[in-house]
Amino acid sequence: MPEVHLDLRAARQHLVEVQMSLPCPGRILRFALPAWTPGSYLIRDYVRTMEGLEVRHQGRILPVQRLAPAQWAVPLEASAPRAGDPIEIHYRILATELSVRTCHLSDEHGFLALSGVVVQVEGERWNPHLLRLSLPPVWEPFVALPRQDEGHWLARDFDQLIDTPIEAGPHPCHSFTVAGVPHRWVGWGGDLPLDDPQWLADVEQVCLACCRLMGQERPAAPQYLFVLHLLEQGYGGLEHDHASVLQYGHRALAQPEGRRKLLQLVAHEYLHQWNVRRLRPAELTPIDYDRATVVSSLWFAEGVTSYVDQLLPLAAGLGSEADLLQDLGADLSRYRLTPGRHRQSLRESSQEAWVKLYRQDAYSIDNQISYYLKGSVLALVLDLHLRRHGSWLGAVLQYLWRRHGHLDRGYQDDDLLAAFVDHAEDLSTLLPFWLNSTDDPDIETYLADVGLHMVPELAGEWFTGLQVESAAAGTLLLKQVLRDGPAEAAGLQVGDELLAYERQRLKREDDLNQLLRFSAASPAAPVAEVLYVRQGRVRQAHLVTEPPRVKRWSLEEDPQASEEQRQRRRRWLSLQP
Ligand SMILES: [Zn+2]
Repeated sequence: MPEVHLDLRAARQHLVEVQMSLPCPGRILRFALPAWTPGSYLIRDYVRTMEGLEVRHQGRILPVQRLAPAQWAVPLEASAPRAGDPIEIHYRILATELSVRTCHLSDEHGFLALSGVVVQVEGERWNPHLLRLSLPPVWEPFVALPRQDEGHWLARDFDQLIDTPIEAGPHPCHSFTVAGVPHRWVGWGGDLPLDDPQWLADVEQVCLACCRLMGQERPAAPQYLFVLHLLEQGYGGLEHDHASVLQYGHRALAQPEGRRKLLQLVAHEYLHQWNVRRLRPAELTPIDYDRATVVSSLWFAEGVTSYVDQLLPLAAGLGSEADLLQDLGADLSRYRLTPGRHRQSLRESSQEAWVKLYRQDAYSIDNQISYYLKGSVLALVLDLHLRRHGSWLGAVLQYLWRRHGHLDRGYQDDDLLAAFVDHAEDLSTLLPFWLNSTDDPDIETYLADVGLHMVPELAGEWFTGLQVESAAAGTLLLKQVLRDGPAEAAGLQVGDELLAYERQRLKREDDLNQLLRFSAASPAAPVAEVLYVRQGRVRQAHLVTEPPRVKRWSLEEDPQASEEQRQRRRRWLSLQP
């Protein structure tokens, strides 16, 4: 069986020494480094971090052919190792990228996302892989795999190995159980369970709420590892079969809502243990590590998970209804303030994940809508729609788990549709419409079912359709120009440097806001002369502003709501059928 030895002792050079030993396959050895990490839909070309590749047989270096940037072949006939002879693949990985799906090795810790580290050898994918680690003194390994003995772990196959994040360092590690299943919490950058003695008890309750949502008595994994990187700032998570890797900012954690948002992130990644990892789209069964795979149902994998991650803490008995309404309202608001939702459907957003969501630019707000965001808005609508039919979203998740996830059978788009239609017949036409169209679902009527409504808050400034950012001392650059907005009509574009508005010099973002301040006393929208710089030349534009627009929506209780509506709301918010 292939044996992978990872040496993290060159921590100050950020170099991971990789040695893979395997039996000679016969005439030719072919191998490739994955191009992406499951759960994060972007081709990352991890091969850019690889150096010093050598293939050896009994100490002799064999000639290697490069078939593609991340694919190699070694013809074996000429050099004549016999089938079964041990062959070694050596290389180094430069681990300097700090995220949940890349590798980072320093004198403080090591984190390895193995899709960027371990090559897939042709013919070995479904064979067990043995993992061995060499670490700097006093470092401990934290690996979400069954441990064989000191320093050895066994992965069922290449996929399980790749799905195993590795954290190492002199970190404290806390053990706890969820329904009798052993869990560990390890952190780099701070010891959250030490600073917050209630933390692990709350995490346990959230994990149990995930199990209940899926109709399960215990988690799907036989053991589970949480890894938290607490940085100055940052946000992210990545799901694995037996682990979650979380990145969070300690400044954000110190904010009043910081703990609640981190608990939601925990809920999100933990629920992925079912939704997307084991209850998996057919297109990812099995995963093609070499190229982008179009997955039309990412709205379900991520949107549904993003929606329920907000409800799960309350369902676990934590937090308040008011906070939850604030969080749900913030998503609905962000959705309504994204014009791109009228240009990209939810299905397109899922299919284009590889080229749009993960590659945002100044124009993204106008031409795309995140399948996380619209997916969570649709999940809310679906949940309330199902409740009109005497069911709820949890019932659909459990149905899919029984028919697909539990049986290791990937689901097609038609399976998803059938699951929803089984719980509410009219979804046979409604759901495809919501997925394929760029119209908004009728959110207000669903919110009315539970005695809520959206309340707009107007901006205090005239609408210009532009956003500025402060650059080098006293310069203001246009970072966004909304499609069909006043700034676009005036000929301004992203990257222009804004100099003056009505002959008043602009140096800070606030200078412009002051000049655009809306006053009901002078209700005529101002027309202003704007000076700006493009390609080193000063230019002039006439900006015709428009009345202030909504800057935020909030989700609020309807004071006229009946007792029945309130009861329905309580059941909905606490994930009760
Ligand atoms: Zn997710």
